[in-house]
Amino acid sequence: MAEVDGSTGHGLETLAIHAGQPANPLTGDVVVPIHQTSTYAQDGVGGLRSGYEYSRSANPTRTALEECLAALEGVGLDAAATGLAFASGLAAEDVVARALCEPGDHVLLPDDAYGGTYRLFARVLERWGLTHTAVPLGDLDAVAAAVTDRTRMIWCETPTNPLLNVADISGLAAIARPSGARLVVDNTFASPYLQRPLALGADVVVHSTTKYLGGHSDVVGGAAIATDPEVVEALRFHQNAVGSVPGPMDCWLVLRGIKTLGVRMDRHCDNAEAVVAMLADHPAVASVNYPGLADHPGHHLAASQMKRAGGMVSFRLHGGEDAALKVCESTRIFTLAESLGGVESLIEHPARMTHASVAGSALEVPSDLVRLSVGIETVDDLLADLEQAIG
Ligand SMILES: *Cc1c(COP(=O)(O)O)cnc(C)c1O
Repeated sequence: MAEVDGSTGHGLETLAIHAGQPANPLTGDVVVPIHQTSTYAQDGVGGLRSGYEYSRSANPTRTALEECLAALEGVGLDAAATGLAFASGLAAEDVVARALCEPGDHVLLPDDAYGGTYRLFARVLERWGLTHTAVPLGDLDAVAAAVTDRTRMIWCETPTNPLLNVADISGLAAIARPSGARLVVDNTFASPYLQRPLALGADVVVHSTTKYLGGHSDVVGGAAIATDPEVVEALRFHQNAVGSVPGPMDCWLVLRGIKTLGVRMDRHCDNAEAVVAMLADHPAVASVNYPGLADHPGHHLAASQMKRAGGMVSFRLHGGEDAALKVCESTRIFTLAESLGGVESLIEHPARMTHASVAGSALEVPSDLVRLSVGIETVDDLLADLEQAIG
């Protein structure tokens, strides 16, 4: 089979299974092997057989994943290798920030960013000299007003975690471009199956591949995809210099997960829609956050930039924090755990778990909020489980 990449007009499900993964010409392996090696024999000094020298710089299993990730985000292989796989989502974020910014620069962050992202900027990158302002990304006037002559990067997450707010990716790109800032979109919640930020004007897409791309809660990983060769070069240099690379086994697990991305995402969306319909009618539930709901403030925007609204749902309870904690501790199929995006349904209390690190800051989340990562189990079992837990 000929090369399949993001420029060949193939559908996302085809790219997920084939991009970067041609059958091995020597052995015919249909699946890319786990190249569990740190170094590569050279034919004479500097005579690399296929470009590989040392596995911090590159490894064939990682290359396959990187080419596949780039294709999923709509990038062709003709644009050189434009995807980078990382040891975790935060490792990708750290390299993106340091590659695009200098000490003394300024960054805009969403005022409801993923807690780990906020901690990275507030507790690590600030010490390195990178300042930030947290803004409501849904308000483009507020974003434009917060841009300074040192702003080098606008960090966008959409939909956001855990409030499921939606930001206008093309609107943000239109603010970033004239001010010389790069727009980075954390596409973890949507996955490339539901949303492709590069086509909407983003400069860099980052992922925690731990979530929907890996999809099975069995691996931690990250990714960054960009098209500007200067940006890609800076990302590669920084990643190789600091060494935040994933091992071959982890790359293989993410690649394997990606093959079923399309069918999983459709089922995540189907099940989330059913859960949302049940919660919206439940007397103990005060409000439901889901961009697929017609009365969600970001509904029209989500419909214009996302294929469907995704598998993440959050809701508030009339009974306050006690009620939220009780629901989180009473489900039998939804597992009480951090993380998201795997085949199994998860439930958590953001204020005390994923977002505990932002308590007392502008990013604090309501204590009566429960977050669900709706999995792909039988939907009636999920509905019955939530009904019994909410009571
Ligand atoms: C999990 C997550 C991250 C961090 O990724 P890790 O793989 O845990 O380092 C970043 N952004 C979002 C939206 C996430 O959900």
